[in-house]
Amino acid sequence: MQTIQTYNFEETRKVGEEFVRSLQGGDVICLRGDLGAGKTTFMQGLAKGLGITHRIISPTFIILRTYNLPQKKNGIAHLYHMDLYRTESQDDLEGLGISEIFKEKDVLVAIEWSEKLGAFLPAKRWELDFEWISEQQRKIEIKKIG
Ligand code: ADP
Ligand code: MG
Repeated sequence: MQTIQTYNFEETRKVGEEFVRSLQGGDVICLRGDLGAGKTTFMQGLAKGLGITHRIISPTFIILRTYNLPQKKNGIAHLYHMDLYRTESQDDLEGLGISEIFKEKDVLVAIEWSEKLGAFLPAKRWELDFEWISEQQRKIEIKKIG
């Protein structure tokens, strides 16, 4: 496990950008932590690290956004960014075709509020816990599971 403290949002973006080096196609990243903890901010840096120039906004209202990489990186051709904050039922989740998404080999799946997936979560995944320490300070814990 790795624990990182950041002292402003740019630092959290940088952590996301540099995390790309640890990733490969087919990886699933679970981002956990309260609203405002920095999950989407981290994703903005991660997208930059993947070469995505499109602005990353929280997918809260549409649950899933897909971004294509301008060129494949570490076997990753597409980024699926999900935010399950507003999903309520197991039906909502099944409607997303989640199990199909997890089978794709050249995608990176990043899920905010992944706790909601429960038993749908793949056994092999990254778990990132974001914690609000103070207005500008956050703690990020990175673990590889499975
Ligand atoms: P989440 O997706 O977890 O709800 P966001 O990334 O959308 O959180 O929001 C985090 C907010 O906190 C942003 O407005 C960001 O500018 C601010 N912030 C302040 N300090 C930090 C920090 N160290 N890391 C990340 N975000 C920070
Ligand atoms: Mg968010």
